[in-house]
Amino acid sequence: MNFELTEEQIMIRQAARDFAQTELKPGVIERDEHQKFPAEQVKMLGELGFLGMMVSPKYGGSGMDAISYVLAMEELSKIDASASVVVSVNNSLVCYGLEKYGNDFQKEKYLVPLAKGEKIGAFCLSEPEAGSDATSQKTTAVDMGDHYLLNGVKNWITNGNSASTYLVIAQTHPEKRHHGINALIVEKGMEGFEVGAKENKLGIRGSDTHSLMFTDVKVPKENRIGDDGFGFKFAMNTLEGGRIGIAAQALGIASGAYELALNYSKERKAFGKTIADLQATQFKLADMATEIEAARLLCLKAAWLKDQGQPYAQASSMAKLFASEVAMRTTVEAVQIHGGYGFVKEYHVERLMRDAKITQIYEGTSEIQRIVISREVLK
Ligand SMILES: Cc1cc2nc3c(=O)[nH]c(=O)nc-3n(C[C@H](O)[C@H](O)[C@H](O)COP(=O)(O)OP(=O)(O)OC[C@H]3O[C@@H](n4cnc5c(N)ncnc54)[C@H](O)[C@@H]3O)c2cc1C
Repeated sequence: MNFELTEEQIMIRQAARDFAQTELKPGVIERDEHQKFPAEQVKMLGELGFLGMMVSPKYGGSGMDAISYVLAMEELSKIDASASVVVSVNNSLVCYGLEKYGNDFQKEKYLVPLAKGEKIGAFCLSEPEAGSDATSQKTTAVDMGDHYLLNGVKNWITNGNSASTYLVIAQTHPEKRHHGINALIVEKGMEGFEVGAKENKLGIRGSDTHSLMFTDVKVPKENRIGDDGFGFKFAMNTLEGGRIGIAAQALGIASGAYELALNYSKERKAFGKTIADLQATQFKLADMATEIEAARLLCLKAAWLKDQGQPYAQASSMAKLFASEVAMRTTVEAVQIHGGYGFVKEYHVERLMRDAKITQIYEGTSEIQRIVISREVLK
């Protein structure tokens, strides 16, 4: 077993760390407060190759491994989880889905600009009445011969307004239940496609979360990914990899809060010494450091399995479950270590605490991860 990173992986981690400090940190508090999408920063991330990290250079990507992706996601998420979720969705849901399951035409037309960061993608599975139970899709894609007629509503879609390319899951053959579902590539601007208002959220407030409405949208048949009825499998397989991205996001939120708390504890004085000299603080820091290291190892293990072409469903669910719970616990303690200062925006930890919560919810709640894991261990 080799725990050492390659030179390239270390370089990518450093590049992401530098980018987070110089480009994401300034303005992160204001973007959170005003729910402003980090458009300029996302454009730069695209130019630097962070939006198509694992896509083959043949399709305009950076050709990196999933380990590098985890390292970059951790660094970006330490500072701005609203920006890092764009990186996660574009890389592991949209680009991965198109590269793995799309045909040559779809890769040329849609994957290349997404991997180069010229366009942003969105992954549209959730509906008002279909979240954890993603099989009960109400959005319909009726087969009209040379095209599908798409009708329905999608909820909570990340990059909902800033995306140009949407992977939309919809039901074609209700009698076949989840075997009748298809995945369609929908372009912004197609007639009958409308973007709803931006959600006003607890955390990742800069992220662009919208509902989407489809009314008689004509989607050409050539935009269906895979065979007729492959859509549900497409969504589930793609989410397996997506969870590595969200696990790494949770890890970054936790380690960002921990680093702030560690530094603050060495500066803040109480009763004639720093609070880092108090055993109560030391024990909190010890627990945080231990849990973060365990979360990091779970994320890297899941990424390593993916890189090796081995099954990683259980590993990615374990990483997401554990890292998101660690993010929540760590950020709450980081606020506590900061005392009153932790409760105000200037010290960053309150934002990280709010941002942490979503990692227990999206791309499968913690309860859904436990279902996936228990199914695997009981096999
Ligand atoms: C900010 C944000 C961004 C998002 N981005 C996207 C996106 O880009 N694309 C997309 O498709 N979706 C997205 N989502 C949707 C997200 O994936 C869902 O919210 C999530 O899967 C949960 O679904 P739900 O909200 O319908 O909750 P529900 O499924 O209604 O769950 C409610 C509660 O019941 C629990 N529960 C449900 N079923 C079970 C069960 N069988 N056993 C035990 N407990 C259960 C859940 O764990 C949860 O605690 C996003 C959501 C948010 C808030």
